[in-house]
Amino acid sequence: MAVDGLAGDHAHPTLTDAIFLDIVALDAVEADADAALEQLLVEERALGIVAEPVGRSIGHGGFIVGVPSDKRSIAAIQRGTMTDAHSYHFVEALTRRDLTAIRACPKSDLHTHGYLAANRDFVNVRTGHDIAPLTVPLASMDDMHAWVGTHVRPVFEGAAGRLLGFEAAFIQARHDGLTRLELGDDVWAITRGMGTAEELYHSIAELHRATAPDVEWIPQASMSRHCTIAALDNWLAPFLQLNLYKTIDLSGDEFAQPIENFVPLYRKAAAAGFRLKAHVGEWGTADDVWRAVELLELDEVQHGIAAAASPVVMRMLADHHIRLNICPTSNLMLGRVESIAAHPIRKLFDAGVRVTVNTDDVLVFGASVSDEFLALYDAGVFTAAELDTIRLNGLRD
Ligand SMILES: [Zn+2]
Repeated sequence: MAVDGLAGDHAHPTLTDAIFLDIVALDAVEADADAALEQLLVEERALGIVAEPVGRSIGHGGFIVGVPSDKRSIAAIQRGTMTDAHSYHFVEALTRRDLTAIRACPKSDLHTHGYLAANRDFVNVRTGHDIAPLTVPLASMDDMHAWVGTHVRPVFEGAAGRLLGFEAAFIQARHDGLTRLELGDDVWAITRGMGTAEELYHSIAELHRATAPDVEWIPQASMSRHCTIAALDNWLAPFLQLNLYKTIDLSGDEFAQPIENFVPLYRKAAAAGFRLKAHVGEWGTADDVWRAVELLELDEVQHGIAAAASPVVMRMLADHHIRLNICPTSNLMLGRVESIAAHPIRKLFDAGVRVTVNTDDVLVFGASVSDEFLALYDAGVFTAAELDTIRLNGLRD
């Protein structure tokens, strides 16, 4: 939904209502979609349609590869190769290129960054600032940080601004039909007027309850790679003690300091029961990916696309069930891939690596999770059934 022509600090309440009405409508679409799917399955069974063989199954409990047609994709779903209650509908929605119906299917976003996950229209209504996403690729992370500094950060200044960003992120999750959202702030936020680690958690939790209580929220504590280890250790400690946050991430310039430096922090996070993640292999190499996984004992990698250059690293990622949370449009707009069609996510998938599709920064790149799935389908990277497998990869750990 687009809300155009707003300016000033106080949006008209009718337009704010329009956002929420849109979300209510989304719920109705989801209910209708479930009913339609059920009806379709009943009819298919009554007609006695027999599924065709759909190619070979490899790894991961039943990937279907080399499936040439969507009829066959749907047949795979009918055969129960890999499904949930929404699989048939998701495949159908993709083949019809029906974005509203894609949104109505459960999905996850496991790779995003605080207010950069915000819903553009909601932010526009609440602040009068319309943050238009990037339209041409940038050349570096420095360019990206400069762009965010100019176009995004000023809109979310101060504690109130940051919290508005989290509210807008939950709004975006509902708007796009996400049922799982990993979201958090940098640990240094506790030095930026956001209160203690516990207060920060409860501030975000309150927004979650008020805005998107049906979305599973996975609270994340993230660290910036350019910070000193001593400072990170100090800021991270209260997050680890609370038993509220679930995952830890490391982002920023991949080359800011050696990955070895972070080992003590990750050992503490592991001892506290955190799920361990880090950004690596977006700008670095396949070896960098594996080195980070080994040294930090990662459960998941944010990006990790460089691994596609090494069959050995891909094999190790697959064997150790390391999930890669990939953001295709981000990779395209930061010049890490030439096109969506040429994205290495296909190679990783074929090697048996467990991949998911995510936004990174929907406010910067303009692509929701649903948009990402449709883009991969339209570019011929995956069949609809393969994309359903990828959707399911994000719905469980
Ligand atoms: Zn990221």
